Amino acid sequence: MSHTIITEKCIGVAECVNACPVACIHKGQGKNKANKEWYWIDFAACIDCSICLQVCPTEGAILDKEEPTLQREPI
Ligand code: SF4
Ligand code: SF4
Repeated sequence: MSHTIITEKCIGVAECVNACPVACIHKGQGKNKANKEWYWIDFAACIDCSICLQVCPTEGAILDKEEPTLQREPI
């Protein structure tokens, strides 16, 4: 299992990127629908530690489960 960054809720502040102990959070290409930068979690590498969820300032941007339909990935 993995955590998920909901692409359309992410505001791109990247607190999660530096906090992730396995460096599995990556920057997405372009902007989301709210014209913000967005990040995505590599589901295969995530170890489900929840640290990203604790540091993210945007309520509801990270889910503690794997929901591929809510998270865009680079093409
Ligand atoms: S998931 Fe949260 S901490 Fe990570 S980039 Fe998006 S808004 Fe920032
Ligand atoms: S749950 Fe842990 S391993 Fe997974 S993306 Fe968040 S900080 Fe990284």
